Amino acid sequence: MIIGSHVSFKGDQLLGSVKEAISYGANTFMFYTGAPQNTMRSPINDTYTNEAKTLMAANNIDINNVVCHAPYIINLADYENDDKYNFGINFLIQELKRIEALGVKYLVVHPGSSLKLDRMEALKAIGNAFKIALTRTDHAEILVETMAGKGSECGTNLNEIKLILDTCDNPRLKVCLDTCHLNDSGVDINEFEQYLTDFDNLIGIDKIGCVHINDSKNELGSHKDRHENIGFGTIGFDALIKVINNPQLKDVPKILETPYIKINDNLSLAPYKEEIAMIKSGTFNPELINLIKDNAGI
Ligand code: FE
Ligand code: FE
Ligand code: ZN
Repeated sequence: MIIGSHVSFKGDQLLGSVKEAISYGANTFMFYTGAPQNTMRSPINDTYTNEAKTLMAANNIDINNVVCHAPYIINLADYENDDKYNFGINFLIQELKRIEALGVKYLVVHPGSSLKLDRMEALKAIGNAFKIALTRTDHAEILVETMAGKGSECGTNLNEIKLILDTCDNPRLKVCLDTCHLNDSGVDINEFEQYLTDFDNLIGIDKIGCVHINDSKNELGSHKDRHENIGFGTIGFDALIKVINNPQLKDVPKILETPYIKINDNLSLAPYKEEIAMIKSGTFNPELINLIKDNAGI
């Protein structure tokens, strides 16, 4: 099982991310190179990167399973003028170069929202942006994420994802599934086998590079995108465990992006150590919050 969670990149960059992942009992992780809401980024510190790699090797973390997530702010479908579009593409190129400097393979990117272009043109603009960014970088791969369909989000069904991939026409563009987004877009996770068959027929199962494992606060087809802790939402523990243990996705990293647990007005704690333990044991524990408090000595 290749499982991890979203972790921080603040302070000592990749080294801090690795330490945090190890503290959760994870064997992979996902990070943002800076704040998800902006495009300000500090240069990569090679000393931290090298120490991170040594620590990964000692803890059975394969860097090929590590994932970076691009900030939400770049919207390659919000075409207003070439300057704005090119800014997004240039940021994407810089982000790909940063992860290449880290030795990380995957960059998850949200397709964007079609605010001004019609849907078909928006999807083509996204695919074209990925194509340019991949042409100007060496080996890092983009994973376009399946979205819930909130507002005018693009990439909310298999046909839209396929159109983006076909437009890009580069083997370094693959796909990141997100179970909360799939549920909210109308895919029943209880019928995940069927979804995988459809995915394989249309796109090819080898194009799945990562799966985000989240429960959902909302009903099937709600188009909302609000993540819930594993087993506490509308998808449920058993359906999510089946996704995680699906033999066809055995070699694909699974990443938790579930919400922090609010302990009191001043303190929220990460649930990942306890959720990963629950996933490994295969049994749901409704006392998650008490487990987290116990482990934190509260
Ligand atoms: Fe995402
Ligand atoms: Fe996600
Ligand atoms: Zn989401």
